[in-house]
Amino acid sequence: MDTSLNGSGRCLYCHNVFSPEISWQSFIGIGKKKLLCTICESKLEPINMICCNMCGRPIKRKEEISEATNSKDKHNLTTGAKRRPLMASPSPTATIKLPPLFIKSPCHLCFDCQLWKTAPFSSKYPVQHRSLYTYNLFMQELLTKFKYRGDAKLADLFTDELKALTTSIGRIDCVTVIPLTEERLWERGFNQSALLAQAFPWEQLLQRKGSAGKQSKRGRKSRLAVFHDRIFELTKEARERVWKDKCILIIDDIYTTGATIRTAAELFYRKGAADVFSVTVARAVGQFKK
Ligand SMILES: [Zn+2]
Ligand SMILES: [Zn+2]
Repeated sequence: MDTSLNGSGRCLYCHNVFSPEISWQSFIGIGKKKLLCTICESKLEPINMICCNMCGRPIKRKEEISEATNSKDKHNLTTGAKRRPLMASPSPTATIKLPPLFIKSPCHLCFDCQLWKTAPFSSKYPVQHRSLYTYNLFMQELLTKFKYRGDAKLADLFTDELKALTTSIGRIDCVTVIPLTEERLWERGFNQSALLAQAFPWEQLLQRKGSAGKQSKRGRKSRLAVFHDRIFELTKEARERVWKDKCILIIDDIYTTGATIRTAAELFYRKGAADVFSVTVARAVGQFKK
């Protein structure tokens, strides 16, 4: 709706007018349109450094990472990993927008993921995750504006980058998003994850448990079959589909502990899915801040 405004060089976040740099790519229409002014853009912190292979947590310069001795099967990564220093450090001058890509056999794991893999639940249902940016103060404000003040256009900042982030996954059979509760969806008017997923052919495969009053209409037996501590379930259509050996991508806005995504991923794994991946715009990296 406001594309003409933005085309004339208004920052999508602060709405100040700025002069977009003219490159030959933008001249012939293939370049990425600049949507943020230089000041706002400089407040974004792209995660373009060495990351935990599994959860995508940026790894601090001197932190040691573990190297699993058995990387043949990522579902069965061994503990007692050999430790060695990090090979490279984050480059402050790096201009690469994308964080390290998804890899086939994640072996360099952060401390949390090493702990996670000893938990039966997590070792059985691993989710490889990557985020575009650090969840810093600016990102917090930006996402607040996006989610709670209805500035849905802000999703445009990230849709293409999220898509680019997933290119190394290879085969993806299905893309879905983390659903909101019906109340939240009504208040907000949109699901932010769905807007972020607009560059993908995504489908609504998950729903909050109990939505549409379906829960109460279920027979007792089926109600008991549902785990009460989990917040999502597959939609009716998704329940009827065959998930065996499928690769699924889940899209959300923020990754904090990863619990939300793991809970959603488990539903597909229980149906026989081969791999579940996830991407988000922002990632909390609290304890790694200097
Ligand atoms: Zn700005
Ligand atoms: Zn990790």
